[in-house]
Amino acid sequence: MRLSTLFTKTTKDAPKDELSLNARILIQAGFIDKLTAGVYTYLPLGLRVLKKIENIIREEMNRAGGQEVLMPVLSPKKNWETTGRWENFSALFKLYGVDNKEYALNPTHEEIVVPLAQKHVLSYKDLPVYIYQIQNKFRREKRAKSGILRGLEFMMKDMYSFHANEEDLDRFYKEMQKAYFKIFKRCGLLDKTYLTFASGGSFSKYSHEYQTITLAGEDEIYICQDCQIAINKEIADELKNKCPSCESKNLKMEKAIEVGNIFKLATNFSDPFGYQYIDETGKKKPVWMGCYGIGLGRVMGTIAEVCHDDRGIIWPKEVAPFTVHLIQVAAKDAEENNKIKLTAEKVYKDLRENSIEVIFDDRDEGTGAGEKFADADLIGCPIRLVVSERSLDQDSVEVKKRGEEKKELIKIKQVLSLKS
Ligand code: ATP
Ligand code: MG
Repeated sequence: MRLSTLFTKTTKDAPKDELSLNARILIQAGFIDKLTAGVYTYLPLGLRVLKKIENIIREEMNRAGGQEVLMPVLSPKKNWETTGRWENFSALFKLYGVDNKEYALNPTHEEIVVPLAQKHVLSYKDLPVYIYQIQNKFRREKRAKSGILRGLEFMMKDMYSFHANEEDLDRFYKEMQKAYFKIFKRCGLLDKTYLTFASGGSFSKYSHEYQTITLAGEDEIYICQDCQIAINKEIADELKNKCPSCESKNLKMEKAIEVGNIFKLATNFSDPFGYQYIDETGKKKPVWMGCYGIGLGRVMGTIAEVCHDDRGIIWPKEVAPFTVHLIQVAAKDAEENNKIKLTAEKVYKDLRENSIEVIFDDRDEGTGAGEKFADADLIGCPIRLVVSERSLDQDSVEVKKRGEEKKELIKIKQVLSLKS
């Protein structure tokens, strides 16, 4: 991609009306745009990051045996009445169709996925099944002040697992715990993300949250200093302030944000829909369920909160919008300038032909070198390459990693070795 043609621009200053760091930095760098509180557009750079996160999640869900679907965003009132959540889910957006028929904008999809599975998954031979989707959700959030960490509209991966019995649910639940850690590792958040015991609501004693430490977080968690398991403060009393895993009382409080959440639903959603399967002996039995969510925008916002310095974002490799940010620095001498441009164009072409993702700051002499460097830091791609008079003197390109100060020259011929 060429910066000269990118329709969005970076700005010198962060937006004044935005309090949260993730939104300030992502708006300033041209990744997102705010429509109104809790509602954002993902711009070309931001969408690239969101898609990378999406693909990491998709790969890990598929690896765990998940089958991807796309359920509707709208659902009829009756599905929510069946579970009692038309009245009890306070964040439900409700709207009218023709003839005053009522609908919900789905905040989660149990009410849709259960009747769906009920049409296809009927026998013990069909179980277990893991169904997931990646799609926008809608919630009437009270506190939409945290940028893309808490939207009224936000993208979520939600998986629902269906099992013949509790033991099989337990088995898969453990597999999901591992899959989630893989996802957060690939998103560059592993060091700061803790498996956290949280209250299970009405379904089971505990659920598990994945909490990432950041001051922007709305939760407080206690991290066990002996085994690194955490407890959400909201349930700490119930656990008598002891680690549920190793019983240590050596706990440290941190502010954190919930980036993912896994729940054992047991038969709480299959029961109201009368969803049962036929077992080996021909008897009807209840279907056991689990659900597993991750907020994609929240993961992206959390990365911005955790991985930045005062110059901008420092994207972890796998989620960076581009691997390389290539800059051509203009020279005064016209002939020299031409040589710089030709070399930069060649490097750009070589990188692309070798599938190295690159954003090329090809803006002309009107944009100063300082401005180009500042934008590269703000946008935050892992590797900066500079073609300038100085580098060309040595047949080289200057290389610098985002987040490090060290610069070195590499021969133009070796640029492709950056791939490894
Ligand atoms: P929270 O406790 O933060 O309100 P939740 O427990 O209601 O979230 P779930 O219903 O389990 O969240 O949703 C699954 C995941 O979706 C969460 O772990 C989070 O990553 C994400 N998520 C939930 N609500 C929002 C939101 N309003 N904006 C962005 N992401 C969200
Ligand atoms: Mg929660």
